[in-house]
Amino acid sequence: MSAVAPAALPPWFEAPLGELLGAQRGHAVLLAGPAGIGQFELALALSQAWLCEDREAASPACGRCASCALVRARTHPDLLVLLPEALQEALGWATADAEAPAKASSKAKPSKEIKVEALRRAVEFAQQTSARGVAKVVLVHPAERMNAISANTLLKTLEEPPGQARFVLSTEAIESLLPTIRSRCQLQRLAPPPAEVARQWLQSQGLAGAEVLLAAAGQLPLAARDLAAQGLDANRWRDLPARLAAGDGSALSGWPVPLVLETLQKVCHDALCVAVGAPPRYFGAESFAGRKASLDALTSWGAELRRAARHEEHPWNAGLMLESLVAQAKRALHSAP
Ligand SMILES: [Zn+2]
Repeated sequence: MSAVAPAALPPWFEAPLGELLGAQRGHAVLLAGPAGIGQFELALALSQAWLCEDREAASPACGRCASCALVRARTHPDLLVLLPEALQEALGWATADAEAPAKASSKAKPSKEIKVEALRRAVEFAQQTSARGVAKVVLVHPAERMNAISANTLLKTLEEPPGQARFVLSTEAIESLLPTIRSRCQLQRLAPPPAEVARQWLQSQGLAGAEVLLAAAGQLPLAARDLAAQGLDANRWRDLPARLAAGDGSALSGWPVPLVLETLQKVCHDALCVAVGAPPRYFGAESFAGRKASLDALTSWGAELRRAARHEEHPWNAGLMLESLVAQAKRALHSAP
């Protein structure tokens, strides 16, 4: 995935940020909502405000002081950002594990978990005196990537935080967090912005075909921006079902296997909708041109895709994998109803 610098705070999170800064009750905040709407950017804006050295109570960070500059440069001594290795590059924040031991092998896949060593480091960090005298902030994203041992490591510090320590955790899977973690945090629920706001924001990012990209990303604007960063444009997306039905998977070549699988699952989902006479969700109706495929063939295609997705960490030969996935797609989409 190409590196995407953390965006400025998306406009739909200005109000939630104001609420959080105005009504702060504890030392820990938990942001909960779907991925792809800018949770990390909100967590970062909250951290920056907590560390800012020139702001009124309840206002966001000033953006001009030395502390704000250090956050932007990702070198603030009182901010510790914990991300799984697999997300560091994508979020443009690759320094969180700089002190972690070198990976056993450079060929090892980046971990999807936030490891217990990182949490131990966070506990120690929270107990140190603030270097700039304002606060110590630990940001954990996404919190559900802590396993039970990691989460337990954090628990006591979350319960009785040292004087200047503050925590912001974000999650897209609040039900999978330990209840003891949840109960120690002030919860802020987050929802995707209205479609029109999301569309305008995507346009302001210089992306054409914003409506098509938003649908492709299930109405999650930052996910739509990331799809565009992968090289997806609105025309290629619109044509994708017809091309797959003709056995042409070139639009997906070079994509990481998990993204290919996710995309094919969307095609399959919508082909099933069309087959039963329902409106598609990720594509416009014109992408299927009224062509219905066999419900049985589509259902078993869906099952095959789910099976493949469970093994997406398998060291596939990506080229061969794509070839066989496209052949499967063609069989299902081309089947007679
Ligand atoms: Zn500032």
